[in-house]
Amino acid sequence: MSCGKDALIFLWEKIESILFPPLCYICGKRGKNILCERCNRKLEKLAKYKIEQHDAEIDYFSYHIYLFDYTGNIRKLLLDFKFHDKAYLCEIFVKFLLKNKKIGGFLKNYDIIIPVPIHKKRQKERGYNQSLLIASKWEKEETRISVEDNILLKTKHTKPQSTLSREERIENAKQVYEIQNAEKIKEKDIILLDDIYTTGSTVRECAKILKENGARSIVVVTIAKD
Ligand SMILES: [Zn+2]
Repeated sequence: MSCGKDALIFLWEKIESILFPPLCYICGKRGKNILCERCNRKLEKLAKYKIEQHDAEIDYFSYHIYLFDYTGNIRKLLLDFKFHDKAYLCEIFVKFLLKNKKIGGFLKNYDIIIPVPIHKKRQKERGYNQSLLIASKWEKEETRISVEDNILLKTKHTKPQSTLSREERIENAKQVYEIQNAEKIKEKDIILLDDIYTTGSTVRECAKILKENGARSIVVVTIAKD
């Protein structure tokens, strides 16, 4: 009996893999996951896993950790993730984030992740906040960490940073964030999570207001640095 059942399952899996073959997001070849092994290895080779120190007196955050330079396939993945409804791609980013021991060791004393918020109007247009998606996936994989998305809010609708010059970005990021439930960040070491770091003006403004409301220290984590 069981032999027949196994054969049926095996047959179904065969049919399923023919009907719905998982295709690699980058090269389109058939694989087991979102990325095939070859593309995965290529990305692994591109990974920088950088931990850069910053002056908290100037930038309000003490470190910036990022996984990749914002080029090539990483750029494509992040653009699709952010603008083309490919929310599930966050799985790739979190996998790379969690498999690096140096970063894991560095972050082990941090227990709160605050994703950089977007304005609710933008969230409605896009359907999701890309940073919150990455943070939530991270929390799911590493359960000691908790995501707080009701502390830092973006209360002013602004132009997308990606459309502005360096100087305009700094002005555009000013006075657009607010804090609520400030008691939750008092004396806390916080991971501030964003997808891409360009001039740093967004995370600097977020770190500033978190510090002003009692956070002890802040590490910025982004998937890529432009
Ligand atoms: Zn591939």
